[in-house]
Amino acid sequence: SAPPLGSSVIPIVNKLQDIFAQLGSQSTIELPQVAVVGSQSSGKSSVLEALVGRDFLPRGNEICTRRPLVLQLLQTKRKGDGSGEDEWGEFLHLPGKRFYDFSEIRSEIQAETAKEAGGNKGVSDKQIRLKIFSPNVLDITLVDLPGITKVPVGDQPSDIEARIRTMIMSYIKKPSCLILAVTAANSDLANSDALQIAGNADPDGYRTIGIITKLDIMDRGTDARNLLLGKVIPLRLGYVGVVNRSQEDIITNRSIKDALAAEEKFFRSRPVYNGVADRCGVPQLAKKLNQILVQHIKSILPGLKSRISSALVSVAKEHASYGEITESKACIAGQGTLILNILSKYSEAFSSMVEGRNEEM
Ligand code: GDP
Ligand code: MG
Repeated sequence: SAPPLGSSVIPIVNKLQDIFAQLGSQSTIELPQVAVVGSQSSGKSSVLEALVGRDFLPRGNEICTRRPLVLQLLQTKRKGDGSGEDEWGEFLHLPGKRFYDFSEIRSEIQAETAKEAGGNKGVSDKQIRLKIFSPNVLDITLVDLPGITKVPVGDQPSDIEARIRTMIMSYIKKPSCLILAVTAANSDLANSDALQIAGNADPDGYRTIGIITKLDIMDRGTDARNLLLGKVIPLRLGYVGVVNRSQEDIITNRSIKDALAAEEKFFRSRPVYNGVADRCGVPQLAKKLNQILVQHIKSILPGLKSRISSALVSVAKEHASYGEITESKACIAGQGTLILNILSKYSEAFSSMVEGRNEEM
């Protein structure tokens, strides 16, 4: 099955967090946010869900995501007793209430959406904030956003399109936001709302990944090979094609595990995708995101190292200032040296770790 999002980055990030803890420093590593954009029903929520590997987002062929959902993944210690009690969700609007049943999380998102945005397709820019605690994730924030629509339906105001675009831009204009630009394969890429709005926020394409969904329901005789190769619309970070669950799969409650197996089979049985296997499937998307996160960590590494070195210098100065060594001072100094050693060892270790990972790409 798919490696959980960020799994290959978890060890590096954890090591770095350990160092900060040893330094007694509050600082942590800020990973970029990841937001999904695109037309309504292009498959944005489906893609996020597949990446997280749990069933908990409202999905469907009508407008489902009607408020921004800010999903903070937080790593917990593994309990290891198989009780499943080390994985739960918690909403900002329901502090202290732990949701162990992920289908209840979906119901709560739906209820909370209706509370703010009404029962009739209304959209609100007021966030729903959900934390997912799990030993299998790294600390990263994902944002599920309402899709772009053109024609107002239900209680939507006449300027619905402009409102949704403004809402989406407020998230993706941040230079630290990675954009997953989702387009369905059965629509025209040249008319893609996703690529258009991503292009406004990130004109040079440094932080936009193209995602083509619904490869399974393309017109007979067509395929997405040229799209995935960037021959139709080039994209610096490239494209990944995926097959998510269909509406029928949602109705029949098909599991993520089954869906991933079906996706794998889909690509394996179509020779046209053989040569582009590195651009096909949710596991490849997770891999691509991991690589981008590693690049990100690599780019902030020099700053982290200089912070560690200056902390070392101040510990050394303090050490020197003890002067005449009494018994307790000697003990503190001894600890200082110990920390120094650990830190120097680690700061070497990261560099080689990150460098090593980079070579493997
Ligand atoms: P969103 O509005 O962009 O968040 O889209 P959803 O994730 O809610 O999906 C919209 C509809 O498209 C649902 O009925 C999904 O089952 C369906 N869907 C999404 N991705 C795929 C796909 O790759 N293949 C098929 N057949 N259906 C999909
Ligand atoms: Mg959605």
